[in-house]
Amino acid sequence: MTELNSYLQTIRPELMSTARLFDIPDRDWEEPCRFSLCAREENGRYRISWTDGGVMAEGETEIPRESDPRLQELHRKRAARRLCKQILYDLCRKITGLHPAWGSLTGVRPTHLMLEALAGGMTPEAAVEHLVRDFDVTREKAELLSEIAAVQRKMPAPGDMWADVYIGIPFCTTRCAYCSFSSGEIGDGTLVEPYMEALEKEMRAGAELLRDAGKTLRAVYVGGGTPTALPQSALERLLGLMKEIFPGAAEYTVEAGRPDTLTAGKLHAIRLSGVHRISINPQTMNDRTLEVIGRGHTAQQIRDAYAMAREEGISHINMDVIAGLPGEGLPEFMHTMEEAQRLHPESLTVHTLAIKRSSRMKLENAPLPDGGMTSDMVRTGRETARKMNMRPYYLYKQKYMAGNQENTGYALPGHECLYNVDIMEETSHILAFGAGGISKRIFPEEGHIERAPNVYNIEQYICRTGEMIARKKALFAEK
Ligand code: SF4
Repeated sequence: MTELNSYLQTIRPELMSTARLFDIPDRDWEEPCRFSLCAREENGRYRISWTDGGVMAEGETEIPRESDPRLQELHRKRAARRLCKQILYDLCRKITGLHPAWGSLTGVRPTHLMLEALAGGMTPEAAVEHLVRDFDVTREKAELLSEIAAVQRKMPAPGDMWADVYIGIPFCTTRCAYCSFSSGEIGDGTLVEPYMEALEKEMRAGAELLRDAGKTLRAVYVGGGTPTALPQSALERLLGLMKEIFPGAAEYTVEAGRPDTLTAGKLHAIRLSGVHRISINPQTMNDRTLEVIGRGHTAQQIRDAYAMAREEGISHINMDVIAGLPGEGLPEFMHTMEEAQRLHPESLTVHTLAIKRSSRMKLENAPLPDGGMTSDMVRTGRETARKMNMRPYYLYKQKYMAGNQENTGYALPGHECLYNVDIMEETSHILAFGAGGISKRIFPEEGHIERAPNVYNIEQYICRTGEMIARKKALFAEK
């Protein structure tokens, strides 16, 4: 086998992702594989063809030449990989006749490509054409990226001197059917106190690390889980620690996802702590669906929670909804969108259902909803956000999403969440505390990212807090 062929064997998972765009199942790659590849180097060019039965697609590209041998190897591999995926994409289009919404893009951050094109000097119109022509992205999605890039370019720029803080509270009152997070149900609450002890220790060590690394705090995000699932006293302690240990951030967000975890007292504590933004997430405003997905609350409780938060004077509420939930069609999703308009959130995140590996839906082999219907829902979400005068400002994709769609965050002008952009675009260092938190260090010049994950298990996290601190120190040590 030639060196080129051996290398292309190693990218099979990426090739399978490309085929998945066309609903071609992974089992078609098992031996005997449905597709056959022919790859060779000839006259300074890579020539690649893929065949499936009697259908063939082929193409070629110049082999890059670099004087630096390390870069040479890297660029050669990149060119071969790109071509190989592109030709497979062409073949799948031929055999299925489908046009995936995101064209040949399989990565989770398509906004990067748009931002790169703009940074390279293209006009927004030319960048849209580039995505449509070179990556077969539909015009609708390319224009969405263009709108997002325009908003992001006006936001305070991230950079090497900044770092965000994430504080994870891995407790929820019940577990949602699609959840793949580490959150445990809060049960009898016996783990709350030891968890808070461990978290405080880790946060204090993290603040020192931030100082030693010479980074300035940018945004603080308290997520989970559902932080407001904590009892009032533990929540007050958490908010107090957050402001004492990490003062002066430009933005503080607390997720208050489940309405049944909210009380007037907790909302008061949140507002007094100076939090700028909370998130109250219905996911759907249909009671039957809420029951099926195990949310353990009703649509009325969402309305009541919004009213209570407004009465407290909370001025920025984000709302998360999911397109493609089990048993829902376009009319149910439109109902959720109508209710969303009545509740007047300042920002709205329209997710597409993704069935992740460790979720109950995956274990139960629940099917993904129809792609065409999901795409209509996503479009409805976008139109609703527009009616509410919101603009899209961040977007990401996940594996196994219904209809190969995406998650998009919309906000009223001036209400964009810095942390959401930083985490999704991977443009800022992140110090993450708590079970399941993943700290990230970006190396902007080299264009790469290193990560230090905390353990997911709550008991393990409590026992091994020292080790989690050491991992972060190693991540941010001089390199
Ligand atoms: S609220 Fe979020 S973290 Fe909690 S169970 Fe549901 S999806 Fe998981």
